[in-house]
Amino acid sequence: MIPMKKIDVEAHFLTEEYVNHLMARNTFPKLDTVEDENGGKFQRIWYGPDLCQSRTDSVTNRLLDLGEGRLKEMDAAGIDMQALSLCSPGCEILNIAESAVVARKTNDAFYQVTKKYPDRFIGLATLAPQEPKRAADELERAVKELGFKGANINSNIRGAYLDDQKYWPIFEKAEKLDVPIYLHPTMLSSSTLKPYTSYGAILAGPSLGFAAETALHVMRLICSGIFDKYPGLNIILGHLGEGLPFWLNRIDLGWLKPPSPGEAKPICVRKPSDYIKSNFFVTTSGMFFEPAFLCAYLALGADRIMFAVDYPFEDSRLSGQLMDRMPICDKDKEKISHLNADTLFKLPFSR
Ligand code: MN
Repeated sequence: MIPMKKIDVEAHFLTEEYVNHLMARNTFPKLDTVEDENGGKFQRIWYGPDLCQSRTDSVTNRLLDLGEGRLKEMDAAGIDMQALSLCSPGCEILNIAESAVVARKTNDAFYQVTKKYPDRFIGLATLAPQEPKRAADELERAVKELGFKGANINSNIRGAYLDDQKYWPIFEKAEKLDVPIYLHPTMLSSSTLKPYTSYGAILAGPSLGFAAETALHVMRLICSGIFDKYPGLNIILGHLGEGLPFWLNRIDLGWLKPPSPGEAKPICVRKPSDYIKSNFFVTTSGMFFEPAFLCAYLALGADRIMFAVDYPFEDSRLSGQLMDRMPICDKDKEKISHLNADTLFKLPFSR
């Protein structure tokens, strides 16, 4: 097979300023560094007194590298472009007083990077949804003035979910600008976190909590009727749709059952799978497990899947190789590897 252009649509970055901001905070969330007995350094993001998520110094350095080191890794892995979002946790978990300012600064900083490498990096705006109107304005600025191709929002907004209509100006703007929103996982909201905490971020994070949190968020959005109001809205989900393709039929069966009088029910007018198939794209980030990939492929089709690595948390080279080995035709691989992203992000060139 000839190598295909590959766009990694879920790659992450950090800025020194954002790291310093989290380190300087004296309330949660905050960040510190710690050394193990072998001298290995870790950064720990503390969500509360008993829950932290750690990453190695090497991962942190790769998140901070928006130049030669990253490009070298991309080249070695055959990754042509990355669509970049600020590493979670993002501005969604900050106080209202600081979040919009930090988001704007982050977008300005990343703009300089996209200016330097316009054919390698795609910007997904950092937003502070705590102030929905301001976030919608920032999305417009990021798209129209900075050339960003969408936005990234990390699931719950300090425990709140985006199906609340007060957040809908963000979606209205995204639909109007015709740009997608990547709904990325983050630490669970306080109301759903408790049963996970005995086993730390290992359980609450990527192994289960992140997917459960984000899938719940998606279903809240669908049930709220937001896609009836904004039918042109596109949402991107990582990790092959956070489990939803697997549940699709059962979700529909539940929706089709008539509720008893007085029971709360979804407001959406179509069955949930209709929205998943028309308003969502799922990406392969961190999910190169053939049975799961084939489930998403059969449930949604190649037009709804995009290649992603989840750089630098996953290996770009290995992810690319696994993608190339998926048991599907080259035409569909091409859609997944870059054609769907070319179209969704309206990229100026294609090969
Ligand atoms: Mn990610």
